[in-house]
Amino acid sequence: MKIAILSRNRRLYSTRRLVQAAQERGHDVRVIDVLRCYMNIAPHHPEIHYRGQKLEGFDAVIPRIGASVTFYGAAVVRQFEMQGVYSLNESVAITRSRDKLRAHQLLARKGIGMPVTGFAYAPDDTADLVGLVGGAPVVVKLTEGTQGRGIVLCETDKAAESVIEAFRDLDAYFLVQEFVEEAKGADIRCFVIGGRVVAAMLRQAKTGEFRSNLHRGGAASKVRITPEERSTAVRAAKIMGLSVAGVDILRSNHGPVVMEVNSSPGLEGIETVSGVDIASRIIEHIEKNARPGNTKTKGT
Ligand code: ADP
Ligand code: GLU
Repeated sequence: MKIAILSRNRRLYSTRRLVQAAQERGHDVRVIDVLRCYMNIAPHHPEIHYRGQKLEGFDAVIPRIGASVTFYGAAVVRQFEMQGVYSLNESVAITRSRDKLRAHQLLARKGIGMPVTGFAYAPDDTADLVGLVGGAPVVVKLTEGTQGRGIVLCETDKAAESVIEAFRDLDAYFLVQEFVEEAKGADIRCFVIGGRVVAAMLRQAKTGEFRSNLHRGGAASKVRITPEERSTAVRAAKIMGLSVAGVDILRSNHGPVVMEVNSSPGLEGIETVSGVDIASRIIEHIEKNARPGNTKTKGT
């Protein structure tokens, strides 16, 4: 097969591993920087050009779209879909999971456990907003934050109200969330491929920190997940419409709660901790599913 990996940087661990796995399995693979693609929007002949040449003949694309290029990256994936090229994760599913409001609403509608969450932009009654999610302690987060940035734990209602008032002046959407204290600074990343959890890891925040992000000094280790956690992760990925997803779960008093469903989950931590060759599992999934026109949504 001829496979395109849409990635801004061929040196990234995940990109390198996918290239390696595809080559080992006998495929022709090319890394393409989405920001350098340009396209025509025509009814019958949608084209994608790259460095002066038309991109054609691909059997599958693997989108590895970073948060900062979601908008344009999704447009490039959509253009491949318009040509009938199989995309591992489709454009609609990627934008759906990236939009935290939309993702939370879709998951809630299907009964997936989540921390009680309020969304706001410029609330005129901050005390009411804090009350809406059950009162302190709460976590206030910018919806555009990544790697644990823009997240504040507020121990009292007063602290929460001050943080919300500060965020209100930032011209940004944010969410106010029940603090799942009983998770004790740990979360579980479930790596889902084709409706199955193929690996999981536990990330534990360092002492005195509630954010378990590895970028914040968190440590990853192997974990056995419960059947309920497994089915929650699989269902969350399915609701987003993602064939490959990293589902982040907290262990709460009321069962597993989903915090986020990531459409371009990194491979490094999880392959190292679990010992599973995730890159090869992804390529195998593509081999089984890539057929011309096998797009669930065609970008609609
Ligand atoms: P990011 O997308 O920036 O990583 P997250 O919303 O995933 O932000 O939060 C980062 C980390 O903070 C999580 O992995 C988790 O450990 C912790 N955390 C976030 N929200 C909560 C919460 N409501 N209750 C408990 N811990 C939380
Ligand atoms: N029409 C798209 C779909 O297939 C978008 C709907 C949405 O997720 O909001 O679901």
